[in-house]
Amino acid sequence: MSADLRRRIAAAEVELHSLREQLQQAEQAEQQEAKAEDASHSTEAPPWPWPLVSDEYDRYARQLILPGVGVDGQLRLKKASVLIVGAGGLGCPAALYLAGAGVGHLTLVDGDTVETSNLHRQIGHAAARVGEYKVDSLAAAMRERNPTIQYTVYREHLTIDNVSRFLGDGERSEDKKDERSEDTKDEDRKKIDLVLDCTDHPAIRYLISDACVRAGIPLVSAAALRTDGQLTVLNWPVGKGPCYRCVFPRPPPAASQTSCAEGGVLGPVVGVMGVLQALEAIRVLVTVPPTESVPSPTLTLFSAGGAGGLAAPSFRTVRLKGRRENCFACSEDAPLKKLGSLGDVDNNGWPDYVQFCGGSTAVTQHILQPEERVSVTDFRKLHNQQDSTQKHWLLDVREKEFYNMGSISGAINIPYSKTQTGKAVDGLPSWLPEGITEETTPIYLVCRVGNDSQVVTRQLKTLGLDKGGSRFVGDVEGGILAWKRQVDSTMPFV
Ligand SMILES: [Zn+2]
Repeated sequence: MSADLRRRIAAAEVELHSLREQLQQAEQAEQQEAKAEDASHSTEAPPWPWPLVSDEYDRYARQLILPGVGVDGQLRLKKASVLIVGAGGLGCPAALYLAGAGVGHLTLVDGDTVETSNLHRQIGHAAARVGEYKVDSLAAAMRERNPTIQYTVYREHLTIDNVSRFLGDGERSEDKKDERSEDTKDEDRKKIDLVLDCTDHPAIRYLISDACVRAGIPLVSAAALRTDGQLTVLNWPVGKGPCYRCVFPRPPPAASQTSCAEGGVLGPVVGVMGVLQALEAIRVLVTVPPTESVPSPTLTLFSAGGAGGLAAPSFRTVRLKGRRENCFACSEDAPLKKLGSLGDVDNNGWPDYVQFCGGSTAVTQHILQPEERVSVTDFRKLHNQQDSTQKHWLLDVREKEFYNMGSISGAINIPYSKTQTGKAVDGLPSWLPEGITEETTPIYLVCRVGNDSQVVTRQLKTLGLDKGGSRFVGDVEGGILAWKRQVDSTMPFV
């Protein structure tokens, strides 16, 4: 019995040994086969056969399938270089959408830093980046959206002194040093294909338009203020479409020039206009410009405002005439062309934009004589001493919304806009407070920073309210801003 078992164990051990050897040979054969397969893969991989890289088919999938874009349009976007002037309320949405769309090279120009009061509308910035340069803050948001394209930032404002560095004068000047961020190399520099004007000052708008005409670059121009916006594509097709001066040959009156910071703007209003700028930019970049029939230029107007408040938003698009025959910048004999090339004449060959636009608010700063003005600290003393026998008038000429936010006690609100348009009743404007003409007590005027108050002081004197000089009429120098800084830090100031 035991002998039989020993014989069977011995036979099983021989079989086991044989099976182990067979397994080892089989495994070695399999390994060699796998290696051979790997090797054949690496040598036989075909070259990437498609015009966009793999990630781009993924990233831009939803716009690639649109008939207006397609692979050809996407390639045009990829090759394009776009300059965005202004990284604020218009520039933020415009830049973010163009980054998302895959424009190959985006350049930002803005010398401002991010403030808390920007965040309600400038959606490319964030609370954590307050104090940073706007171009750096916006570029960070753009990289989060699309890290695969190229960004260049300039931490400075566009002026007549540096505009040729960004746009050139037909040719880009390559020899000048600039303050671009260090991660951009000179060889990255290429001609700008399109400019977006996202600024908020008339003088800069004319400068950008003139520079685009000179350099032969199309321009997408937008503006937004309070509840209204406007949008137009200029100098497109290049050399045929009207320029900013063709559409607006004269700047708005200096008194009506207000920036978003002073005039106020609703976030979504400026957002809508910035998004539309991005849309127009994409349209210009993916479209092959027609050579024969030139499309009619248009001006799109947006409004979310009604009588004294908000209204249902509405768009209106008006057809523009083409170029003006006598345009200062783009006509056959344009005076701009006669200013010579850059660096040849005064102002580097550019006209005086500040003078052209009425000198902005700077011209109104010294309307009154020193004796017609009182400092905020002196005014506080006499205001606090006020009793029934020594009264005075204090007229706050800021707009109602500013006044309602906070005002000096006893101030009567007479909005500046009313003082400039009000109708006369019996020879006197209807906006004058009742009883002010009969009394002889002093009249003080206060506004936001001390400009409008001087204008209205002059008006009241012209109307004879100073009784031939025997009654004091003057302004509180520096306005509510000075009052906040020197007298009452709790005063809200916007
Ligand atoms: Zn023109």
